[in-house]
Amino acid sequence: MVPRILLLGGTSEASALAKCLASRIADHGGLDVVLSLAGRTENPAPQPVPVRVGGFGGATGLEDYLKAERIAAVVDATHPYAARMSFNAAQACAAAGVPLLALRRGPWTPVAGDRWREVADVPAAVVALGDAPRRVFLALGRNEVRAFEAAPQHSYLVRSVDPVAPPLAVPDAEYVLGRGPFGEADDRAMLEAHRIDTIVAKNSGGSATYGKMAAARALGIEVLLIARPAVPAVPAVATPAEAEAWLLDQFGAHGADSTGAESSSARGADSFSARGAGLSTERGA
Ligand code: NAP
Repeated sequence: MVPRILLLGGTSEASALAKCLASRIADHGGLDVVLSLAGRTENPAPQPVPVRVGGFGGATGLEDYLKAERIAAVVDATHPYAARMSFNAAQACAAAGVPLLALRRGPWTPVAGDRWREVADVPAAVVALGDAPRRVFLALGRNEVRAFEAAPQHSYLVRSVDPVAPPLAVPDAEYVLGRGPFGEADDRAMLEAHRIDTIVAKNSGGSATYGKMAAARALGIEVLLIARPAVPAVPAVATPAEAEAWLLDQFGAHGADSTGAESSSARGADSFSARGAGLSTERGA
């Protein structure tokens, strides 16, 4: 039976891994992959593998799903702040005896010129803005910005994938719609045009949303960074290539010939390398 992989997504890394795995399926027919999305955006980007959308019903719902769908392994490539899903995955996989790997993007770290202040969570960011009016760029999910209605003295610029509806109940808020990646030059122009003096953001890591951080540094803008939530202690890698290598290690025997002359993992790695994906470099890093 072809191993069935559940890929918990919602990130560019999950999409990149799905693309790698789709290519592997096309080349070898070796894996059956389903990508799971929370359903936070109204029109998610097209994906190269079958997609399911919506919650599983907590850890026990996910455990039931793993058993019913005969899932052979789970890759948790959710957003660094989607911690509840990560804890549910750890609990469900342990209960169902299914191998789990986390694909986790590292956080950004400050460099000279950055004016970052870490705050515990979104409500703490609202408080940290203070009483004096500021011009604030909210680089948060549309479900998180409503907390800023508690601080109506500030002017807000909100960027989200889908519209904030209804608009925030504050006297001065503007909205821009956009789906990353966002470049530094465009973000700098936007921050200048709106005379932004403060950014509230998550420490998402990666390059897709770093433009605003680089632009903030260049413009001397303060950034209130929401602290990353704790995540479960499970085996983890940092890149889609490493996650694919892990899957090959788990399921390398699939499709191997019967001679036994070569280890199945090595065969998988060889065929992967032959596609020029640089497995040996990533694994050696
Ligand atoms: P969460 O708090 O970890 O998850 C809440 C619930 O959403 C989970 O318990 C699960 O419901 C469902 N869920 C989450 N990810 C799922 C997935 N890949 N497939 C199926 N169901 C999933 O995460 P969140 O509420 O989505 O977001 C928390 C933070 O992460 C926010 O700051 C958000 O902006 C950020 N973020 C999330 C995503 C995303 O795709 N989720 C993307 C970008 C940023 P059940 O318990 O019913 O299974």
